[in-house]
Amino acid sequence: MTEFTPEIQHRVQQLRRSLQQAGYAYYVLDAPEMEDSVYDRLYRELQDLELAYPGLITPDSPTQRVGAKPATQFNSVRHNIPLYSLENAFSLEELRAWEDRWRKVLENAKFPISPRETPLYVCELKIDGSALALTYEQGILVRGATRGDGTTGEAITQNVKTIRAIPLRLDLDNPPEIIEVRGEAFLSLKVFDQINQERQRMGDALFANPRNAAAGTLRQLDSRIVAQRRLDFFAYTLHLPQTSGFTLNSQGEALELLQKMGFKVNPNRQLCRSLEEVQTYFEHWDGARRQLSYMTDGIVVKVNPLDFQETLGFTQKFPRWAIALKYPAEEAPTQVKAVTIQVGRTGALTPVAELEPVHLAGTTVQRATLHNRDRLAELDLHLGDTVIVRKAGEIIPEVVRILVELVRLRLPDSKCQPTARNAISLSYTLREKL
Ligand code: NAD
Repeated sequence: MTEFTPEIQHRVQQLRRSLQQAGYAYYVLDAPEMEDSVYDRLYRELQDLELAYPGLITPDSPTQRVGAKPATQFNSVRHNIPLYSLENAFSLEELRAWEDRWRKVLENAKFPISPRETPLYVCELKIDGSALALTYEQGILVRGATRGDGTTGEAITQNVKTIRAIPLRLDLDNPPEIIEVRGEAFLSLKVFDQINQERQRMGDALFANPRNAAAGTLRQLDSRIVAQRRLDFFAYTLHLPQTSGFTLNSQGEALELLQKMGFKVNPNRQLCRSLEEVQTYFEHWDGARRQLSYMTDGIVVKVNPLDFQETLGFTQKFPRWAIALKYPAEEAPTQVKAVTIQVGRTGALTPVAELEPVHLAGTTVQRATLHNRDRLAELDLHLGDTVIVRKAGEIIPEVVRILVELVRLRLPDSKCQPTARNAISLSYTLREKL
């Protein structure tokens, strides 16, 4: 087993504590403490460290579970079929690696991947909302549940019934005895803004984003409030019993059938024959998504043929046949290695953070501006701190803030290190004396 140093062990503990705290704020309190892109990077760093040093994996690590335990105010329900999360890819290379992986699994299972009529992939938009599992018996909605930890969710049937886009009765002549439909409850950007304006007027804490507002709304104990909030819903998964009488061959067909049953299915889906077509879809929606009336943070690529899906199955956390490809983040965490002073043409001094290289908005960022002495004083930066760096479009990368959640866990000997602020103040003083 690969040996790890105390520093690596310390970093893993730091990451775990930070992610656990962020996950609680996000999933249980519906009030996130950090940006999603920052959470994703820290999560990936922990995953990579655990992969390199398996001896550091613990069963309670945030990488080992989906979502969070259900809240106590609703009855818990066990999902008949677990609700999985999605594996994330952040680049086309990662998408290609995913294709290689699933092809290998089919090859090993001696499953024929010969060319077929059915396109290989369905691309769907990744709706930034909250997953719901809906159970229909004899065509009647009998239960609505949150994802919870993937195995156990909360029964929120009364609240689900307030969502107009969810049929209470399926539009089918001979409905199967039981079916389960899954999809995303979400709030339009307009309703999200209205809710936050109202909350501001009432002096309540604002929701950080539409996803948290949707999750918070679904867990309201008073379903009249839920009804006022006008949640919407897109269906994307259909589980039919073998005896249903329907024959489905692909995810594309399942989406068509969901639509026929009376569900709202996102119209911006697309069948793709190759990863090149997936790439075109992804690039198109990077711009076009800004015109949509709801939030999306990426696309979901699903292997289309259902017999492929069945053979591929699931890992502990994800289906092997689906992956989310996220749009590039404009903010990410990284560690400060040093702080230097840049002298401009006019002689102006600018403090610059020298960083562990981080991939951001299509480029690798190694340096970010700390702007000026006042900004630096505000930040109270220590060397080795994890900071959030932002790069939007052509703008020069900048240090936005220190990730205080990690700073609270600074190594004891970091006190001995001069803070960046002291070092820079010294430089400024020297400069003034010259
Ligand atoms: P996820 O949101 O990355 O992906 C899985 C979810 O995507 C599914 O459960 C489903 O709800 C949704 N989805 C939307 N459209 C879909 C479609 N067309 N098909 C299938 N699924 C679709 O994973 P997650 O486990 O729900 O949450 C992890 C994410 O939550 C992280 O990537 C992070 O960004 C965020 N998070 C943030 C914080 C924070 O502090 N900011 C904390 C915890 C988690």
